[in-house]
Amino acid sequence: MHIILLGPPGVGKGTLAGSLAKKFGIPKISTGDIFREAVQRNTVLGKKAKAFMGKGALVPDEIVIGIVDERLQKKDCRNGFILDGFPRTIKQAEALGRITGIDAVLNLKSEDNVIIQREDDKPETVKKRLEVYRRETTPLMQYYEEKKLLKNINAEKSIEEVFEDAVKAMSSS
Ligand code: AMP
Repeated sequence: MHIILLGPPGVGKGTLAGSLAKKFGIPKISTGDIFREAVQRNTVLGKKAKAFMGKGALVPDEIVIGIVDERLQKKDCRNGFILDGFPRTIKQAEALGRITGIDAVLNLKSEDNVIIQREDDKPETVKKRLEVYRRETTPLMQYYEEKKLLKNINAEKSIEEVFEDAVKAMSSS
């Protein structure tokens, strides 16, 4: 099962990805988590990523794609994976398509103004992150719609209901 989660910042992708990963016994791969850990450990990758993350900007495609490519080769991905926070640009989606096939893209939709303020965020960072999402990531919806992979999920329901709807969408893919 090769699954992508899409949705605006703060909609609850991370939580859902965690629950789905547990249910299906496949890893959740969050590029945001990978970068945060690298920043904490002050690795070469962390040093590169930090400047972009702090501004609410995207880490350059070549870096992210390399990391995901490497991660997907690991043994625990043999039965599938859930991608949380990747792809975020059309370039990333195209690269992913060259690395592996995808079974479904769960698109978490919310009309609500989602709250994305993190403790260490400045208001301009939040604004920038939303702008980047609209400009770079929303085109992915059409990209995957055209490939007949997009499954819209109403993220305004309770966490339990969103989880159930996501499980149904995965099971029918
Ligand atoms: P997230 O926790 O998914 O919101 O990711 C936190 C930050 O990591 C983002 O604001 C970006 O700076 C960076 N990041 C995570 N995933 C990606 C990606 N697929 N492409 C580019 N930058 C990313």
